[in-house]
Amino acid sequence: MSVFSHHEFDKHQQVHFFCDDKTGLKAIVAIHNTNLGPALGGCRMWQYNSDEEALNDVLRLSKGMTYKSAVANIGLGGGKSVIIGDPRKHKTEAMLEMMGRCLETLGGSYIAAEDSGTSVADLKVMGRHTKYVAGVTERTGIDGKPCNGDPSPATAYGTFIGLKAAVKHRLGASSLAGLKVAVQGVGNVGFRLAEQLQAAGAELYVSDIHAESVERAVNELGATAVDGKDILSLDVDVLAPCALGAVLNDNTIPELKAAVIAGAANNQLAAAHNDQMLKNKGILYTPDFVINAGGIIDVYYEQSGHQHENVRNHIESIADTLDEIFQRSDADGQPTGEVANRIAEERFMRETLVSA
Ligand code: NAD
Repeated sequence: MSVFSHHEFDKHQQVHFFCDDKTGLKAIVAIHNTNLGPALGGCRMWQYNSDEEALNDVLRLSKGMTYKSAVANIGLGGGKSVIIGDPRKHKTEAMLEMMGRCLETLGGSYIAAEDSGTSVADLKVMGRHTKYVAGVTERTGIDGKPCNGDPSPATAYGTFIGLKAAVKHRLGASSLAGLKVAVQGVGNVGFRLAEQLQAAGAELYVSDIHAESVERAVNELGATAVDGKDILSLDVDVLAPCALGAVLNDNTIPELKAAVIAGAANNQLAAAHNDQMLKNKGILYTPDFVINAGGIIDVYYEQSGHQHENVRNHIESIADTLDEIFQRSDADGQPTGEVANRIAEERFMRETLVSA
């Protein structure tokens, strides 16, 4: 297995492999870049088919965190960790405790948060042996409700703010009243986003693979249920992907009718050229790692002493960042995802120059 010549390796500053026979822990921590601060990112547990697949994931995801935090203007770098194994079969307290000990050896250059396959409770177990875990403090959430560390309300709020900015730019509308919005996936983030859209007067269309999630949106928010195969191509003003990655691809883009795409799902573009395809079609794509940064902003504030109003204001600045991206995209003809990448690089690479 190659590392430095791996196709996802992109100047990662550190890659650590941890193995503990006694607890069965096999983990990789990738620290992509710490120029702007310690690398913070989720700790994912997944039954990878091979070590290669795990390495691929951790290299790709850690780089994504550098870009997300740089654009969100928080003092964090990008990192990620993966534990290899089925979380339902192989996860034990002893393994999580050992993961905590491993994180402690990194001295704070990487801070772990929850991710697929790990929960706030798991992070607390790791936290018995390290202070380098985040998103574990009971506090008042962005919505004013008690919060156990779950970043979803903050992510949903940021997505709502970003969606409004995109609608204003592309459709010239300051209000969402009467606009048709399709939400793919009404889970932790999607449902909360749908609540805010409904309160703002939008007409909601939803799909989810879980019938009870759709029913809840229909009953509580008056949404219209849509078959999963039709949601992306629905004749709506806005499409909000809040479920899976790679939904914007060579097959789906020709069928899209929405003028704006603004949703929380990570890695919505299947390939880099899909960014330009959307621009060519006159669709305003709101880069996913910009609009869904509310959660990481929330976690950052938790790390640095949570001030409820400050978090809210910072999340609301997602709209300003998007305005800058949209304007630069209009001015120089580059697609919005590409512009967002350049802005991130300008920020964390500038720090390289300063510190060199
Ligand atoms: P979640 O698992 O709570 O919700 C996802 C929902 O999508 C579920 O209800 C699931 O049933 C549904 N779904 C899955 N496949 C589907 C399909 N093919 N069609 C329609 N619905 C489908 O996850 P979440 O925390 O709400 O996150 C949603 C997305 O946002 C993910 O891509 C996640 O990576 C991204 N994201 C989440 C956060 C956060 O704070 N939770 C932060 C940044 C990005």
